[in-house]
Amino acid sequence: MTDSESARIRIAEIREELSSIPMALPGSVTIRTYACGKAYCACHKDPPKLHGPYYSWTRKVGKKTVTKLLGAEQYEKLKPLLENHRRMRELLTEMAEATIAVLRDEGELPA
Ligand SMILES: [Zn+2]
Repeated sequence: MTDSESARIRIAEIREELSSIPMALPGSVTIRTYACGKAYCACHKDPPKLHGPYYSWTRKVGKKTVTKLLGAEQYEKLKPLLENHRRMRELLTEMAEATIAVLRDEGELPA
């Protein structure tokens, strides 16, 4: 099989996987717990009962970074959509590389 044949097969597989992704949520979630500044708070006891967890969802909107807090249940529900977005980006990068391989092999792009 030539490079371009195997790259075309890979592109077909990528297209199929992309079409199976129903929705994709951009950004990432950071989960944090923390001890506050009040010395007598439960978060300073032994064992400590820390504040949180807080789920902050961060994404880029234009050039800005936007952060919103999510509830624990909301986070569990949205987690697969964040994973979908990550996967789509991976697939897109792979498709771009496969496209270059096809075009090079067929002389449409300089080697
Ligand atoms: Zn505290």
